[in-house]
Order: sequence, then C-alpha cells, then structure tokens
Amino acid sequence: MNPNIPFNKPFMTGRELWYIAQAHTNGHLSGDGSFTKKCHAWLERQTGTARALLTHSCTAALEMAALLAEVQEGDEVIMPSYTFVSTANAFVMRGAVPVFVDIRADTLNIDETKIEAAITPRTKVILPVHYAGVACEMDTIMDIARRHGLIVIEDAAQGIMSTYKGRALGTIGHMGAYSFHETKNIIAGEGGALLVNDPTYAERAEIIREKGTNRSQFFRGQVDKYTWVDIGSSYLPGEVIAAFLWAQMEEADTITARRMALWDGYHAALKPLEERGVLRRPIVPAECVHNAHMYYILLESLEHRSNVIASLKRQGVNSVFHYVPLHSAPAGLRHAVTPAPMPYTDSLSDRLLRLPLWVGLEPELQRVVTALTEAV
Ligand SMILES: *Cc1c(COP(=O)(O)O)cnc(C)c1O
Repeated sequence: MNPNIPFNKPFMTGRELWYIAQAHTNGHLSGDGSFTKKCHAWLERQTGTARALLTHSCTAALEMAALLAEVQEGDEVIMPSYTFVSTANAFVMRGAVPVFVDIRADTLNIDETKIEAAITPRTKVILPVHYAGVACEMDTIMDIARRHGLIVIEDAAQGIMSTYKGRALGTIGHMGAYSFHETKNIIAGEGGALLVNDPTYAERAEIIREKGTNRSQFFRGQVDKYTWVDIGSSYLPGEVIAAFLWAQMEEADTITARRMALWDGYHAALKPLEERGVLRRPIVPAECVHNAHMYYILLESLEHRSNVIASLKRQGVNSVFHYVPLHSAPAGLRHAVTPAPMPYTDSLSDRLLRLPLWVGLEPELQRVVTALTEAV
C-alpha cells in the first residue's frame, strides 16, 4: 500500500539551520538584525516596493496597514467575503466595518465591476485579495480608488513572485501584505511582510512596528532620543525567523519554478476531465503571471465535492477546501455588511477543491491525477 499523500508538506532548502546557527553566533536574536536586513533588501529589490518591513505574520502586516490607513470606528472597508479571516479581522479590530462584494467566476477575485456600487460616504479602503496568487483587476481598482479618494491595501498573502502587467503583487496599492506561513510558497513557519509603496507611510510604519517608538530612527542616528512617539505594537519577527526566511528567499526562483512545473502538470493532465464537463480548471488572465500557489478545481456541487474528497481519501490522497465565506460566518454576520447578493461566492465556495501542491510532490503527481480521474 502506498503511503498517503499529504495536502501540504513544507519545503526546506537545507540552509535554514546553517543561517539560524549564524544568528546564534552573531548573538543578536531580537528583530532587525543582519538577516532581517537581508530579507528587507531582497523584498525591495524583488518587488520594487519603496519600503519592505518583516512582520511576524501577514495578519500583523494587515493590522499595521489598518493603523497606517487610520481607519476609524464606522469606516467601511470593501473586500471579498471569499478570503481568510485576517483580511477582515485587522479592520474590525479598529472598529471598521467590512463591506463584502461578490467575486468573479473566472479568478475568484473580487469583482471590480461591483465595487463602485458598494462605495458610501464612509468608505475608506478597498482591499483586494489576490486569490491563489492570481492578480485582481488592479488597473480598474486603482482607478476607482483615485476617483473616490480611497486607500488600496492589497492582501497579497498568497502572491509573492506573482505579477500583474509586470508589477509585483503587493506593490500596486498604497500598501501590500505578504505571508510566510508554512502553507505559503516562501515560508518561515509564521511570518509576513508589509510593503509600503506610498513612501508617505514609511516613517510611521517603522514606528508602529516598533511599539510606537522611534527606535529605528534612533539606531540610524536621525534622532538623539529613543522614546514613545505614537501608538504601536510589536510586529517584528526575531532573527531566528528571519534567518530561516533568508534561506527560503535565496531559493525563491527555484521554489517557484518547481511549483509551476507541478501546476502545469495538473493543468495538462486535467484538461480531458474539463472537456468531459466533470470539473473546471483554474483560469489565469493574460495580464497575470502567477506563482503556482494553489491548484484548485471546481466541481458540480457541494455533494459532488464531498464524494470526491471521500474517494480521494480512500485512495490515499488528501485534498482540502476553504473558505467558509466571511459574510455567512458568525463573526461576519455580527461585524460586517453585505449590501448585495453573493451568488458566485456562495456557489464557488461550495464547489472548490484544492489538490496537494508542494515541492517534492513530483513523483506522486500522476497518482493524484489517477485518483482524481477515478473519484470524479
Ligand atoms: C494565509 C493568509 C492570510 C494570513 O497569513 P498569516 O501569515 O497566517 O497571518 C491572510 N490572507 C490570506 C488571503 C491568506 O491566504
């Protein structure tokens, strides 16, 4: 009997422990040491953002973005409901109200044609989420934001190494957030980064990240006192995490290429099933270069999906679905508003299934395809 194929398996490059040992030898274990600086420089070079700041999670980066945008009690933040809870929570924690907009049937990203109808005098932020590392229609979203004077914060948790019309995801809006959680492409266990694209936010971002102090400016010799100057929290990771992450960043091109080969492998192998009408494969618009974060399929119904998951499981293949749409979750009902019907969110979230995709899956890919062909 073949061993079970897990849904996810974190990939280690092999240099993580070596860099952690170096951090140990350096004797600098709190944040913003030499490994954090390497990661910041890599992110700024790789994406072209004005200022990258490592955080202990994407959740933390979104919380920082909510503080920097100065959202107040009752301000509205337009976002999809088909997303992870942190997209909404970071703003609900500031008293803001998520306003959910339906997604597009092709990319499962926020439907940019439905954003303007959701804007009210209280709207402050538009929050596109780049699902599966495939970009939202950012030109349209930025144009809407400019015309209405809104701030754009990109949840690019899944979007590292992806681009939209040649620009890195997370760098198109005023701010963007990456995740290095172990389920993402480039990992640190738990970790994230805030990309500050509009430089007017950069100085305050450093302060908010360092407990509301001007410590970063103090270390650069720009001020002669280190003191409490604003609200803030502790949003930075320690050097052990940054050392691990640096090993991953060094291999980001290889990791992305290997994931892409797996993604392309699924995509070619599942074409006949799509032609038979038993599933739909992901759709990537021409202007989007994606990072193979995820391979998902869309099945006929919730019942069909449950049967496919059970059949795959019997054949030793672990598949998963997500998300419970936030507009129907208990906290979503309490804290958010949903001004219009959400037909695509409701239907697609019932029918989406994610297949295993991790570096090292190569020898097992055909087994997943065979099991799925049997299951559908
Ligand atoms: C993973 C994820 C997050 C949260 O990332 P953490 O680093 O775990 O905080 C937020 N939004 C989306 C869309 C995600 O996929």
